[in-house]
Amino acid sequence: MPKGIRELQAEVLEQDLCTGCGMCVGMCPYIKTAAERVAVIHPCGLTDGNCYRVCPRGETDMDRLARQVFGAESQDLILGTHTGLFFARATDGRVAGRGQYGGTVSALATFALDQGNLEAMVLTKGKGGYPPSPFVARSGEEVLACSGSKYSASPTMAGFHQAVREGLRCIGVVGRPCQVTAARKLEGLAAGEGVAHIPPAAPALVIGLFCFWALAPGFYRWLAEQVDPRQVGSVDIPVEGLEVRTIDGIHRWPVDAIRPFIRPTCLQCMDSTAELADVSVGSTEYDPAWNTLVVRTARGMELVEQAQRAGVIEMKPYPPERMPLLRRAVLQKKQRVVRAMAEGQAAYLRLEQAQRDQILALEVQAG
Ligand SMILES: Cc1cc2nc3c(=O)[nH]c(=O)nc-3n(C[C@H](O)[C@H](O)[C@H](O)COP(=O)(O)OP(=O)(O)OC[C@H]3O[C@@H](n4cnc5c(N)ncnc54)[C@H](O)[C@@H]3O)c2cc1C
Repeated sequence: MPKGIRELQAEVLEQDLCTGCGMCVGMCPYIKTAAERVAVIHPCGLTDGNCYRVCPRGETDMDRLARQVFGAESQDLILGTHTGLFFARATDGRVAGRGQYGGTVSALATFALDQGNLEAMVLTKGKGGYPPSPFVARSGEEVLACSGSKYSASPTMAGFHQAVREGLRCIGVVGRPCQVTAARKLEGLAAGEGVAHIPPAAPALVIGLFCFWALAPGFYRWLAEQVDPRQVGSVDIPVEGLEVRTIDGIHRWPVDAIRPFIRPTCLQCMDSTAELADVSVGSTEYDPAWNTLVVRTARGMELVEQAQRAGVIEMKPYPPERMPLLRRAVLQKKQRVVRAMAEGQAAYLRLEQAQRDQILALEVQAG
């Protein structure tokens, strides 16, 4: 059944399910964002709307999207389709030094721009103590200015529509898993599934970030009570908890201090490794100088191989002894969501009972 802005409001925004991805913002003059909240300012009346179709919390069939991206459903129910799994990092010390971990994302984004294949990369910019915002980067310097993780839900994908309005057509994006899903839904619309207004472009490169959850804007108000936000340099959330760097040094809090700020929608998300991306990048939870790099599509593999050949990134095989830890963390999140589905949660996911049972039956053997 076709759905539009009314359902976006009723099923997503009013249920606090919005991921703040930003994809519907900028497609429609009646949807706005402020302080990482998305709101409908006027119901346009369309009963079948692209705003609902691109929403990662609108009805979502991950198998169908996997067929769109990879030509087939995923054979790996835990990590999703992939052709390579590595540790990687930027070779340029300046890029690695400013990156969240090994700077792989910034190195790949810069390389893609330098190659001339892309006109811009849509990124997320901000100072650690304040909510971030979308940024359309057209040079390596601008990519570097966006380095580092901002652990809240920046509406970055709104930047894609801004770039299109500026006349660009060959645009890459870096986003959280929900944003990657939205990017792939937009790709479907641009390929002809759209209604009324067919988007004139879809992301030409999709770099996904690992993400188990993002924080609500209340986090920044809380942080401002702990430290001077103007002095916040970088923020990290390793397994031990929150780490905030200021000019005074590193301040630490247990993860329970920020748990109340986790966006409720993140607890209904089964995708922590951006399964629909061209490449996905995360931490190693082991060596902060490196990233985990998952290569998924032919386009992703081509970019990674070219970047490696050009000496922009270095790679080594993913350590087999780390594999069970990664797979277990990802599987446990999926299983939590599948169990919650029995109580009516995550109803946006089109997941047959047989698929749910299959996920619940999976186990990861110890390494
Ligand atoms: C909200 C959030 C939660 C995360 N949770 C995990 C996790 O649980 N486990 C894990 O292994 N990794 C997680 N990551 C990914 C990790 O923090 C790094 O982004 C990733 O490892 C890439 O590192 P890098 O050194 O290559 O990054 P860099 O080279 O510094 O590049 C980082 C890129 O991320 C983009 N970015 C920053 N903040 C956001 C944001 N809020 N939304 C969209 N894009 C953004 C920037 O534009 C930049 O291009 C998370 C990231 C975010 C944003």
